[in-house]
Amino acid sequence: MLDAQKTIHLADYQPFTHLVERVDLTFRLAPGATRVLARLHLAPNPARPGRHPLRLDGEGLRLVACAVDGQAVAPALDDGGLAIAAEDLPEAPFLLETEVEIAPEANTALEGLYMSKGMYCTQCEAEGFRKITYYPDRPDVMSRFKVRIESDLPVLLSNGNPVGSGPGWAEWDDPWPKPAYLFALVAGDLRAHSAKFATASGRPVDLHIWVRPGDEDRCAYAMDSLIRSMRWDEEVYGREYDLDVFNIVAVDDFNMGAMENKGLNIFNSRYVLASPETATDDDYARIEAIIAHEYFHNWTGNRITCRDWFQLCLKEGLTVFRDHQFSGDMRSAAVRRIEEVVALRARQFREDAGPLAHPVRPESFVEINNFYTATVYEKGSEVIAMLKTLVGDQGYKRALDLYFDRHDGDAATIEDWLKVFEDATGRDLSQFKLWYSQAGTPRLQVAEDWQDGVYTLTFTQATPPTPGQPEKAPRVIPINVGLLNPNGDEVVPTIMLEMTQERQSFRFEGLAARPVPSILRGFSAPVVLERDAPPEERAFLLAHDTDPFNKWEAGRALAKDVMAAMVLQDAPPSPAWLDAVAAVAFDEGLDPAFRALCLRLPAEDDMAQTIHAMGRIPDPARIHAARRALAGALAIRLGEGLVQLCRDLDEGAEFSPSAEQAGRRALRLAALALLARRDGGKLAAEAFAGARSMTEEIGALAALLDAGQGAAELQAFADRWGGDANVMDKWFALQVGLAAPGEAADLTERLAARADFDWKNPNRFRSVVGALAANHAGFHHLSGRGYRVVADWLLRLDPLNPQTAARVSTAFETWPRYDAARRRLAQAELERILAAPGLSGDLREMAERMLAAGQPA
Ligand SMILES: [Zn+2]
Repeated sequence: MLDAQKTIHLADYQPFTHLVERVDLTFRLAPGATRVLARLHLAPNPARPGRHPLRLDGEGLRLVACAVDGQAVAPALDDGGLAIAAEDLPEAPFLLETEVEIAPEANTALEGLYMSKGMYCTQCEAEGFRKITYYPDRPDVMSRFKVRIESDLPVLLSNGNPVGSGPGWAEWDDPWPKPAYLFALVAGDLRAHSAKFATASGRPVDLHIWVRPGDEDRCAYAMDSLIRSMRWDEEVYGREYDLDVFNIVAVDDFNMGAMENKGLNIFNSRYVLASPETATDDDYARIEAIIAHEYFHNWTGNRITCRDWFQLCLKEGLTVFRDHQFSGDMRSAAVRRIEEVVALRARQFREDAGPLAHPVRPESFVEINNFYTATVYEKGSEVIAMLKTLVGDQGYKRALDLYFDRHDGDAATIEDWLKVFEDATGRDLSQFKLWYSQAGTPRLQVAEDWQDGVYTLTFTQATPPTPGQPEKAPRVIPINVGLLNPNGDEVVPTIMLEMTQERQSFRFEGLAARPVPSILRGFSAPVVLERDAPPEERAFLLAHDTDPFNKWEAGRALAKDVMAAMVLQDAPPSPAWLDAVAAVAFDEGLDPAFRALCLRLPAEDDMAQTIHAMGRIPDPARIHAARRALAGALAIRLGEGLVQLCRDLDEGAEFSPSAEQAGRRALRLAALALLARRDGGKLAAEAFAGARSMTEEIGALAALLDAGQGAAELQAFADRWGGDANVMDKWFALQVGLAAPGEAADLTERLAARADFDWKNPNRFRSVVGALAANHAGFHHLSGRGYRVVADWLLRLDPLNPQTAARVSTAFETWPRYDAARRRLAQAELERILAAPGLSGDLREMAERMLAAGQPA
């Protein structure tokens, strides 16, 4: 338990000694003493010749009985599992029977079999199954599972198809071999929201979303999203669903967003339940995306799984990419792309620039739970997007068809994945593979030349050192470029420049005038474009670029230039930027959602990252002040137009969660928030009082709090929603997120003292402690109170739920960016965490990595 942390290396992979041909499980459920009977039909694995002992993973299990082919045996037991010597095992196939006892009600880590408000549920990815029974808990051991559940609870669910049930029992059979991490069981007093679906080839499928009594009327949007996802995967990828039933269960206590267990997806309830009164437009969009994501895993993750956890990006990168494609098809693709990139920069670029940087496919880990990261997921998806750009839509389709044909039923690797692209398109992807093995975000510099009608763009790529990787080789970077005439017409539509060298030039001939380049259109590669463009050029692209992503990006880059000048040189807000944003804000020819995005200022943490990349030390207090000053200047510049905007967009139509309506609400709320700085929140208070949706209610409340108002509304909100945990999470997070820098830590402590601060619930913990960590100027306040309060709570949560504690600890990953005083304070907290007795392996690994690699340059 103490320091027995073992590092696991990709290079050490070996197949398991035995095959598990079939698994029969019986669960006799009881909160304090559940019995699990396992019958494993085992055989020696021909891929591991010779005689081997049998070693099964198991943690926290009380072994009651163990037999081989009906003969009782006494295996060797330790903290990590059981072992039976080779001599005690038959050389032919044999049956291993075990019976263990576990206590779901005592399981606070929410990993394995646990209880949430009287309901049993499981979370097995990555290594939770070993807390349920003795088993080779690794993804390359795939087997057929039959499950019998015995309990008096009315609803008893597991993977696969239902094959029988009676009073106090139910049986399930999953015909598809799967790894243990996809096992699931749910038992509870649940109600279903049901629908039917017929697959393209005519298979009828019963769809059920299971929730606690009273929540049935908040499942319609999740069900609609599921049906659209199933249809979309048939139409776009040719993939059909393969069981008679598809179940989704909503659980209040859940570490992650959702889990793709075969035929039985388990969801954090906040990503299932939605009604206009309780869910924001962002919630609706997230529900749609996560329902789709988990459903898409049925093929990319379940039918084709990962050989080992180093290949996590094989299923996650691909499935994130697929859910991005789906959301782009369902909504405005341009708006979705901008939101994806905002999130990528906020989470993944930040990770890549700090001590926790790691490759998309890591080569070693101590605790796999710590590698469910933005790099594996979001950058993993960007890598696939690049691959698609490089091989084209047809090449991508051929490769994916080959992937499903060749690897269905396999536990595959990144090598397998790249090989199908090579075989389907004839391309050599050995250099491209560096995207999987090299950490860090490449920086791309651009030089231009214009001579005798020839325009030349010269790119130079370099990737800063990351932990364990001081040197990087040049990567393949697809750079989508378009050229505009000085009058704003596009003279060269988007073409892909394929960069493979450290420095490379591309020539454009036959141009009448020196063009204005639009580089990295659609954000065609996850790189930092370093280009000191004059403000006039950025304003020109914001006004004229035909590529919506780069149009937004020009405004964003201009805003960052302006804010950086305000922070570093005390410059005033730039009138050129204010004019350019005003032009977009009032341009009725543009999508309201896009205009709302252009009104959103860069986040403070994003500015700190940008200033740090410029070689300067970011000052969180100055960044906070500059951002507020810029918003204030924008409110003045937009003037009475804001009032008009709020009126025009206040249509009073019946609520729909559609992207169109959501875009109008986003623009109206952006205008309302700016206006609150001028009118003291008068209009925002009216909007709060008359709100017809949660988007408007919480948006108006945010505008009020941001303007230093809203105490009465805050109370009214709590009075109204006190009984709804998911809504109250928003209430907690909003206050902490908008608290003034010097008050954020104190407010966190005051809220944490409330009776309804159920800190053992991961959603509630994140909505308060996580919100403080995300309040940039509050967390990094020079008093050190932000660091201290977050560290206190991490230490309190860690013994109960190490996984969530380790996740939230990434708040500290940026500490090397700041000045010596802040570094000392943050370092002291990380050292205090490490010194805590009984620290979990999860949190220890994170604190060690952040400290070790975090020495400032
Ligand atoms: Zn996933």
